[in-house]
Order: sequence, then C-alpha cells, then structure tokens
Amino acid sequence: MKITEHLGNAKDTLFSFEILPPLKGQSLRELLEGIAPLMDFKPPFVDVTYHREEFIYKKHPNGLLERVSTKKRPGTVGICAAIMNRFKVDAVPHLLCGGFTREETENALIDLNFIGVENVLALRGDAPKSSGKFIPEPEGHSYACELVEQIVRMNEGRYLHEETEIGFQTDFCVGVAGYPEKHFEAPSLKFDLKRLKEKVEKGAEYIVTQMFFDNAKYFEFVDQVRAAGITVPIIPGIKPITTIGQITMLPRTFFLDLPDPLMDELEKCKTNTEVKAVGIEWSIQQCKELVKKQVPSLHFYTMSKADTTYKIAKEIF
Ligand code: FAD
Repeated sequence: MKITEHLGNAKDTLFSFEILPPLKGQSLRELLEGIAPLMDFKPPFVDVTYHREEFIYKKHPNGLLERVSTKKRPGTVGICAAIMNRFKVDAVPHLLCGGFTREETENALIDLNFIGVENVLALRGDAPKSSGKFIPEPEGHSYACELVEQIVRMNEGRYLHEETEIGFQTDFCVGVAGYPEKHFEAPSLKFDLKRLKEKVEKGAEYIVTQMFFDNAKYFEFVDQVRAAGITVPIIPGIKPITTIGQITMLPRTFFLDLPDPLMDELEKCKTNTEVKAVGIEWSIQQCKELVKKQVPSLHFYTMSKADTTYKIAKEIF
C-alpha cells in the first residue's frame, strides 16, 4: 500500500522506522530478528537506506587496473523483499541520484516494482567521502527533484527510450527529505524551501524530516513549509542519542543543534549508559509532544539497533 494511503487511513499518529543494511559480511537474519520486536507497534512501513557505490582503482605491477568497490552496506533491494515477505509490512527503499545513470535508475525501479515495492524515498545522496563534492554520474541526476520527475514519468509509462514497449506501468508513491534546520549546502532556509517545493511540484507526495532534537524547530519548519504552499504530510524523524560520541558527531554530521536543556543533562553523563538513559528520556518527551500535535508518524532512525526505539515506542504507543 502507498504511504499516503497508510497516512490517510490512520486515526492516530503511526509508528515507522528506518534501518541500514548490515555491513558486508554480516547476516540479514540478525537484522531481521533484531527488528522483529518493533512489529509490536504495528509499523505500516519500514525504510531501508541506500549506500552509494564508490570505486577505487588499484594498479597492479603488470600495469592493469583493478576496479574495487568500497560499498560497505549492499543489499537494500533484497532487504526490502525480505521485510515485506517476513513481516507483511511495506518496505520503502531509499533511492539515490548519486552513483546512478538515468538508465540504471530506470532499471532499479523495474526491479523494485517486480518485487512489489510501492513506495520510494527519492534522495540526492551525499558527496563521496573521497571527493567531498557531490558530482552526478554522467547521464545521472544532480538533484532529488530530477529523480522524482523520472519516477513520476515512469508511473505515466514514459520510459527513457521511446521505443520501449509499455506492457505495465509502475505506480510508486514518492517521498522526499526535508530539513527543519536547513540542508547544509543551502544558502538559506527560504532557498531550501523553494527546492523542497520543487520536489513536491514534480510529484513527491510526502516529506520525511532530518532528525531534530528541538521540537520547536520542527513546528517552525512545518509552519514555513505550509506558508510556502506545500500541503503534503511531513513525517518527523526521531533519533535518540545513545553514546557520548554522538553528542559531537550528530551535530557535525547532520548540521543540527542540540538544545541547551538536553546538553545540560548530557554534560552530567560520564558513561554511554548514562547518555543513553538521557537520550531515551529526551526522545520520549519529544514524541509525547509530537503525538499531541497529531504528527502523521513518528519515524525512528534506529541505526538498526531496535532496543532503544522499543523502549521509547513502549511509552508512546
Ligand atoms: P536535494 O533535495 O537534491 O537537495 C540537495 C541540496 O541542493 C540542498 O541544499 C538544496 O537546497 C539544493 N538544491 C536542490 N535543488 C536544487 C536546484 N535545482 N538548484 C540548486 N540547488 C538545489 N543519504 C544516503 O546516501 N542514503 C540514504 O539512504 C539516505 N537517507 C536519507 C533519509 C532522510 C529522511 C534524509 C533527511 C536524508 C537521507 N540521506 C541519505 C542524506 C541525503 O542524501 C543528503 O542529505 C543529501 O545531501 C541531500 O539529499 P536531498 O535528497 O535532500 O537533496
């Protein structure tokens, strides 16, 4: 079922979450068993992140070049199939501009349609760590709005090559990312909102936000999005802080602020266990307020560690 239908049918705030594919070499069974308890809260959908393929070239003494993939978390499509099969919930694969030509995107969408995926989250993807700058593939997309456009065109039966014989049409519901604290490359929030509006005008039907720790930032964002004329649902992303390292890593990586009252509590912590307790309590309070304001779903960034999300969800649902 489409995310928009799940949201439309819901009487109360839903529970949903995002997982990462396991590191190459790790088993899927462990991941699926790990998230199984979260099914207690009846998530209508589970997001699965996508990790861009990067290549390095190794030169051998004989002069030949060997292409080596640095991809650490393959398996997004297979995990989606496994989730739908085992838990009978919708799986939402993340689909990136980065690393894909338009044709590869088209083929990926066909794969997804064939395994029964009905929703995708369309993203640009980050710059590869090696270059620090986002560079599209030749014949690839530069921005998420272009990817949205391609998916919608396919839904209309418009393939890249006109000679493609249309025997079936895809019917994907497309979500996109939104940033309550602004995307780090955008010169201003107003600029970023215009770009968000473009994604919706091209056909995105819902927005999932970057994590935030101050609900006021989410509420202000929603007001500004609505003032910009965007009417689609805006699903808040929730990430509990669980380690001392995340206190500096999350703001640095995701360009967000930790509010002072949260920092006051975190500064008292000496161990990861203490940080996790503060992080869980903070998320519970965040979620309670968001539910009161009738947000469409609480969407947890689990980092594939379900225990923390379980503790929070148990207090809310
Ligand atoms: P876009 O919407 O394309 O925006 C990127 C930047 O370009 C913004 O600053 C925007 O203002 C600007 N911009 C947009 N359009 C234009 C235009 N026409 N002209 C000029 N500027 C423009 N990354 C992964 O690699 N894998 C994942 O699975 C993944 N999942 C995510 C899930 C969520 C909910 C979120 C919030 C992020 C996720 N990301 C993921 C990270 C995401 O790929 C990065 O934040 C990326 O830098 C931006 O992606 P976007 O889709 O928001 O890009």
